[in-house]
Amino acid sequence: MSDKKFETNAIRTQCERSPHREHSAPIYMTSSFTFDDAEQARALFADEIPGNIYTRFSNPNNNEFIEKLCQMENCEDGLATASGMAAMFVTLAGLCKSGDHILASRSLFGSTHQILTQILPRWGITHTYVDIMDSAENWEAAIQENTKMIFVETPSNPALDLIDLEWLGGLAKKHDVLFTVDNCFATPYLQRPADFGADIVTHSATKFIDGQGRTIAGAILGSKDVIQELRFFARHSGPSLSPMNAWILSKSLETLAVRMERHSSNALELAKFLENSDHTEFAKYPFLPSHPQYELAKKQMDFGGGIVTFEIKGGINRGRKFLNALKMCSFTANLGDTRTIATHPASTTHSKLSEEDRLAVGISPGLVRISVGLEHIDDIKADIQQAFEASL
Ligand SMILES: *Cc1c(COP(=O)(O)O)cnc(C)c1O
Repeated sequence: MSDKKFETNAIRTQCERSPHREHSAPIYMTSSFTFDDAEQARALFADEIPGNIYTRFSNPNNNEFIEKLCQMENCEDGLATASGMAAMFVTLAGLCKSGDHILASRSLFGSTHQILTQILPRWGITHTYVDIMDSAENWEAAIQENTKMIFVETPSNPALDLIDLEWLGGLAKKHDVLFTVDNCFATPYLQRPADFGADIVTHSATKFIDGQGRTIAGAILGSKDVIQELRFFARHSGPSLSPMNAWILSKSLETLAVRMERHSSNALELAKFLENSDHTEFAKYPFLPSHPQYELAKKQMDFGGGIVTFEIKGGINRGRKFLNALKMCSFTANLGDTRTIATHPASTTHSKLSEEDRLAVGISPGLVRISVGLEHIDDIKADIQQAFEASL
């Protein structure tokens, strides 16, 4: 491991320079790698020597991207995948077998919820949900004989509730179960779950890691042993990341620190503006002192992140009018972009749930989620203010 700081590693970690003496890493768009001779080919396939064979297994661009993420997340090894969901699926299916049980927080990304409830049960893998805000006793009571893994996201989407990673890491250790954290919302610049005992850290790199809404990608980080098991699963089932996308993402990581600081400072300023606005019932953001878990946020996160939510006065109808009235902010399903994005979960991403189920994961009728971008904060506030007035 490098003795240098986060930003330096993000910039100075680079795949080996080729004979062309390039300064910026080239893109290795090749499906396979040549063997010098029959003995080298044999040794590579026998895992006796390290080296690339075929891009489904490894590639210099993917290796560079993962090496940077390992340094950032304080993890030994990792895998790059073609999407965030491929990372979630490889983690769950690659480590669990028929008869195993997964304990998860109810506030999960929609497709992760579908994997747990619709796909894994076909292979006899069961799950239990506990509310992210539930008591320590209830979390512990939900652990079964056959529990293999605890899986959480913090901060949760879109409710922005947190779970104490240090406490949950201790609980997982006590019961000898694997502990996985989807660290997509925070990114390793704000929060490093492995420092609190997480065995596995997963990412949708589509979000803040790419940061500009260009690629779909994912990553899994963990100990050498865990990743070795997952590498076998991924090598033979094939969810590998394209070298082109790995190159884009490795470049993106060079600016992750500065981007996350500005996302966070813009988001904090917007959250204060929304909290004080006559058009909202409340605003929620981990680093607002009014957040019920402000102390925990300060303990396990270095900055508050780029996502702010608020409840617009006037419920679901005003929420829809507000989105129609935005002029600059984008109306799209992504998050973690340079461009500010607004969404209304009750009428879009979570519209298939009953109102009761929505409320159980913190989605009230007028809840608006803002992924705060890197435009000037004055312009972001001005667009939101004019949309408030136009939606009255
Ligand atoms: C977007 C997202 C995913 C899924 O990632 P994709 O790259 O879209 O496949 C998983 N978890 C969280 C928290 C996300 O926001």
